[in-house]
Amino acid sequence: MSNTIRCDVLVVGGGHAGLMLGAALAHMGFAVRLIERQPLAAIEAAPADGRSLALLAGSVRIAKELGVWPKIAAHTAEIERVEVVDVEGGGRVRYDSRSHGKGPFGVGIEHGRLRKGLLGAFLAEAGHDAWLAGEVAELRREAGVIAARLTDGRTVAAPLVVGADGRGSRVRELARIGVDRWTYGQHALTFVLRHDRPHHGAVHEWLRRGGPLATLPLPGRRTGITWVEPSAEALRLLALEPGEILALFTERSGGVLGRVEIESGPSAYPLGAQHAHRYVAPRLALVGDAAHGVHPIHAQGFNMGVADIGALAEALQAARARGLDLGSGETLLPYARRRRADNMQRLWLTDGLIRVFTNDLPPLKAARSLALGAIERVAPLKRLAVRHGMQTG
Ligand SMILES: Cc1cc2nc3c(=O)[nH]c(=O)nc-3n(C[C@H](O)[C@H](O)[C@H](O)COP(=O)(O)OP(=O)(O)OC[C@H]3O[C@@H](n4cnc5c(N)ncnc54)[C@H](O)[C@@H]3O)c2cc1C
Repeated sequence: MSNTIRCDVLVVGGGHAGLMLGAALAHMGFAVRLIERQPLAAIEAAPADGRSLALLAGSVRIAKELGVWPKIAAHTAEIERVEVVDVEGGGRVRYDSRSHGKGPFGVGIEHGRLRKGLLGAFLAEAGHDAWLAGEVAELRREAGVIAARLTDGRTVAAPLVVGADGRGSRVRELARIGVDRWTYGQHALTFVLRHDRPHHGAVHEWLRRGGPLATLPLPGRRTGITWVEPSAEALRLLALEPGEILALFTERSGGVLGRVEIESGPSAYPLGAQHAHRYVAPRLALVGDAAHGVHPIHAQGFNMGVADIGALAEALQAARARGLDLGSGETLLPYARRRRADNMQRLWLTDGLIRVFTNDLPPLKAARSLALGAIERVAPLKRLAVRHGMQTG
């Protein structure tokens, strides 16, 4: 192993999760390397693709603690109000950050802006040499380390490898960790709008039979749209002229944003959920979509990943302070226990919500409008919903 690159933690995958974890660990003084199969220049030059995501207040707190917030803050818009409407059942619930006194519910940010911000944070903290362009071909455990061989023949060895390589994780596969997965027969159509009315930091979500339609505030008079439909309908919408999509959006959103035009997108994503059977193996851990993937209805996906990253970074810092091996069960098992339980709960919550709100059975329709009505009227219930919605982990 004479030409082997050595480090404390090897991260595989340079999406949101891998970049945030890599930046955070480098910030804490760990020697980090990150393997990503997409070329750096392609990520830096990627045009906006119409995707946006909500980072909940709990994730913003973790991003601040981990030192990555300054690189993304300028691209975020605060979420001050949330309004959820059950279009067919008639229920409605409104949350306003001023009435619970704990600050914004979170922020909206474009997918590409977040990735470029996190990439900047990673390169500033870990240095350009820490970026290894390539793909992992093999993982082998040797005395005290796990060695990853890249497809170009290079080898990297570390006490711990972290799979942050997304839903189709090669690290998970090489570790022989199984995964349960299912699909919803839906696609999400995403685009970013420019509009003439201010959004006032409001998220609107219309829960419809075909799937939710949601707006997310972005900086300026700009809003991200996630519009879920059964796959055939979503692909039909994708093929429409921009003016036709905008007319349908304006009709379904009641014109809340005024005159609208498309800034980026639309693009479409098939929706499914999945959960890895385990999050850790000897000298190996999974974070983000490599560990779990959920329906976007409750904006949980990457927020669950941020909570994984916060928990793993904390576990590694504590292990270093106690002189423990970073890849040992003593270091990794508490991380897995803590995160699997929370993620499982969120996975079933989003799965249940999507099934209840896309179902036309009269008792379910009645139950869901009663539930929304109760949340709206009963203050402790509303506080509970706010707390759960804002927290990550
Ligand atoms: C329509 C839609 C709306 C969403 N809205 C929200 C939201 O509001 N809030 C929220 O929190 N989440 C949301 N999400 C989910 C969120 O986008 C994902 O959870 C998040 O982007 C996953 O990041 P990741 O880094 O874990 O995985 P990925 O983004 O998949 O990154 C994996 C990376 O690993 C690399 N890679 C893969 N295999 C290899 C290999 N063998 N070797 C080297 N590199 C490899 C890939 O190139 C990629 O860069 C939404 C998702 C969708 C589809």
